[in-house]
Amino acid sequence: MIQQQKAWEDAYSFLANILISAEKKIYESNANKQGGWEGFRDFTVSKKVKESDNITSFYLIPTDAKELPSFLAGQYITVQVPTKNGITTMRNYSLSDVSGTGYFRISIKKENNENENHNGYVSNFFHNNVKENDVIKVAPPCGEFILKTDSKKPLVLLAGGVGITPVLSMLKTSLIDVKREVILIHGSYSPSLHAFKNELNELLNNYSNLTVYYCYNEVSNEYNLANNESKGLITGELISNICASKNLEYKDGEYYFCGPKIFMANIYKILRDWKIAEEQINFEFFGPKEDLQKV
Ligand SMILES: Cc1cc2nc3c(=O)[nH]c(=O)nc-3n(C[C@H](O)[C@H](O)[C@H](O)COP(=O)(O)OP(=O)(O)OC[C@H]3O[C@@H](n4cnc5c(N)ncnc54)[C@H](O)[C@@H]3O)c2cc1C
Repeated sequence: MIQQQKAWEDAYSFLANILISAEKKIYESNANKQGGWEGFRDFTVSKKVKESDNITSFYLIPTDAKELPSFLAGQYITVQVPTKNGITTMRNYSLSDVSGTGYFRISIKKENNENENHNGYVSNFFHNNVKENDVIKVAPPCGEFILKTDSKKPLVLLAGGVGITPVLSMLKTSLIDVKREVILIHGSYSPSLHAFKNELNELLNNYSNLTVYYCYNEVSNEYNLANNESKGLITGELISNICASKNLEYKDGEYYFCGPKIFMANIYKILRDWKIAEEQINFEFFGPKEDLQKV
């Protein structure tokens, strides 16, 4: 019995050491990068911009006015904020603009605060308390949900609600670097909750290889749907029709998607039913992985 316990302890400590050393390598690589740092660094909120009725962007510049490191499209930063009981808490936010702008932009959805366990503390803190010129603590960009810039396959980006944030960074990066067909389909609950529409429509005017389509769960009778908008969810038929309208074969697409649980499950099912190869499927979920497995 004692021997068995010792074996477990050895195995646990072996695995823990692997994880600790992998984590150490990430910290070191973040610190050694040009403009990089380790731990938390002070950033000043240079601009706060409302993107929709529930999403607001925060433009962050280093308070020490020194260089920023580059990051890969799709990566996120961690912010640390004070709590009411005098300690701190952390949350991750995807970088919603491209690397090399001189600022980090994060775009935060204000969560409702009716649930005791998920009271939306940090997102409400940002929306209600954080003002321009305030200083917040930020850890360096990281994350594995990143755009493969060496691929020439048509890029098909699918976003649900605030899941647009990493996807928008990928879209803008792909337009700078590579000439490939780019399709974005963004689902929002309603036009008033739809973020980044102006920014995307401006890109549409400038890039002939970009196609953008918007879906809404609900639209009022007064709202006039544009040619690239419809009421309803993102379906397989919609994706394949949009690909066909650009003479693209949907099976050739390289798919990236991010959004709420049910959206993730639906999109994943569509792509698996189509037998899209695993290496063409890339996704990120904003909640704990266990939450996604429960769908
Ligand atoms: C990689 C990644 C990228 C993300 N990008 C974005 C983005 O671009 N925009 C956006 O709006 N959201 C993004 N999120 C979600 C974001 O991190 C928050 O979960 C969200 O803002 C809700 O946080 P909240 O405090 O308002 O809500 P809450 O529901 O109160 O908390 C959200 C989560 O944090 C956990 N939590 C609560 N309290 C604590 C605590 N004291 N310590 C640790 N965890 C706690 C909760 O269990 C819950 O799972 C991202 C998440 C991930 C993982």
